[in-house]
Amino acid sequence: MRVVLATSNQGKLLEFQEALLPLGWELLPMPVGLTMPLEDGSTYEENALIKAAGICHAMQFPTLADDSGLEVEALNGAPGVYSARFGGLFTDMDKNLFLLESIKHAPAPRAAKFVCVLTLAYPDGHVESYRGESHGEILEGPRGRGGHGYDPLFYVPSLGKTYAELTTAEKRHISHRGQALNKMLQAYKDGAPKREVSRLE
Ligand code: IMP
Repeated sequence: MRVVLATSNQGKLLEFQEALLPLGWELLPMPVGLTMPLEDGSTYEENALIKAAGICHAMQFPTLADDSGLEVEALNGAPGVYSARFGGLFTDMDKNLFLLESIKHAPAPRAAKFVCVLTLAYPDGHVESYRGESHGEILEGPRGRGGHGYDPLFYVPSLGKTYAELTTAEKRHISHRGQALNKMLQAYKDGAPKREVSRLE
């Protein structure tokens, strides 16, 4: 199957291409000039659907989109869907410093989780969603040089490492995005999953 990935991030396209190899799907980039719909939903599900359905409608092609974020317990789940622009900030370093400042009075361990929702929209209106979560703690300072975003602060106790200290393969194995992708791979491993058909009375 040929599927468009609704992202302008080349790194994400390569990551998804590799992860979806077992399905034999061909992942296509969004054409230059096509703009991403405004992500103004209040949940990951809404935002992933806005992107997948918007691009699917424009291209009349099956389209995959994801939306993810970090939820910190001491901040009642913030930054959540606003993770990309936490505190109105945009660079990874600024957002990480803002996060540390925001929870400086919270006692360790500061529980947190990453969430990812993957949505696949078909031109006939059929939509599927897969959610992945990974649990960890926010450290008091950064550790590790890999990854991106909040990776250097996100510590996984069972591995004794932050996301920024994991190899790409290790991170894919446990991450929220990896888990959502695995659910989709499982669903499609024996062909397309059965669609919900509404019964005509
Ligand atoms: P997106 O929906 O994948 O673009 O993610 C939104 C924001 O969540 C990003 O800009 C990052 O700040 C944060 N984020 C999502 N996934 C990760 C991750 O795997 N590591 C670190 N930060 C992440």
